[in-house]
Amino acid sequence: MTDLWTSLRRFLDTEREVFGDFLLLDGARQAVRHAPEPPPRPAVVARAPVTADPAPAVADEPLLFDLPPAAQPVTTREEWMETNDLQEMHNRISGCLKCALGHTRTKFVFGVGNARASLMFVGEAPGADEDAQGEPFVGRAGQLLNKILAAIAMKREEVYICNILKCRPPNNRTPLPEEVELCLPYLKQQIALIKPKLIVCLGLTAAQNLLQTNESLTRLRGRTLEFAGTPLRVTYHPAALLRNPNWKQPTWEDFQAIQKLLAGLQA
Ligand code: SF4
Repeated sequence: MTDLWTSLRRFLDTEREVFGDFLLLDGARQAVRHAPEPPPRPAVVARAPVTADPAPAVADEPLLFDLPPAAQPVTTREEWMETNDLQEMHNRISGCLKCALGHTRTKFVFGVGNARASLMFVGEAPGADEDAQGEPFVGRAGQLLNKILAAIAMKREEVYICNILKCRPPNNRTPLPEEVELCLPYLKQQIALIKPKLIVCLGLTAAQNLLQTNESLTRLRGRTLEFAGTPLRVTYHPAALLRNPNWKQPTWEDFQAIQKLLAGLQA
C-alpha cells in the first residue's frame, strides 16, 4: 500500500514538473479561453459644451459676461431714439403699449405742426375728439387755440402742438405719474428734434410734469422759465377758458407776452 502511494506521488510530481498544475488549471484555462471578450472600454473624450447655435470660433475674444459689470454696455436705448426724423420717430412709437392707455386708446396722438417750429405748445393729454381723430387740439379747445393764435398773427401750421401723453386717459382724468414717466421721454425727444425757440405749456399738468415742479399755475404764469435750455412760458389750457371765461383776459395778456418774447428770440 505504501509502495502504491509512493508510486502515485512520484507520478504526480513528474506530471507537475512537465505540465504544471494541469489537473487544477486546465479547466480554468479552458474557461478563460472561451469566455466572451469584455467590451472595450470607451475612450474618454472631452465633450464640447452643448449650444443651441454654436457661434463661429472667435480666437481669444472675451465673452461679454466675462467683462466686469462696469465695462458692460448700457442696453436701455430703444429703436425710436435712434432717429433724427420726427415722422420716423412717430412711425416707431405709434404702436406703443408701455402703459395701460395704449390698450384703451382709439388713436395714438403724436403731435401736429411744423417740424421746425419756433413755437411749441404742450398740453395735457388727448380728449375724446383727439382720440377719435389722432390729432391734438381738434375739439372746441383746439378751435379756441386756433383763434388765440390768429390774434397774435400766427397760424396753426406754423407752430407745433403736442401733449404730455400720447393716449387718452379714460374719462379725461388727469394723467397718472406712472403714465407720465413712461410717456415723457417721447415728448423730450420731440422737443430735442424740433428745437423750438419757445415752449408754451397749456395748463398746470403740462407745466408741472415738464418742469418737475409742484408750483401752482398762479406762480408759474407770468415768468419766463426754462426746459433743457429752452425758454418756457405757462398759461391756461384753452379747455379751462371754455369752463371759466374770466380767464380769457389773463390768457390774452400771456399770449401778448409770448408774442413779444418770441419776436425777441427770433431776432
Ligand atoms: S400714453 Fe404714452 S406710454 Fe402710454 S401707451 Fe400711450 S404712448 Fe405709450
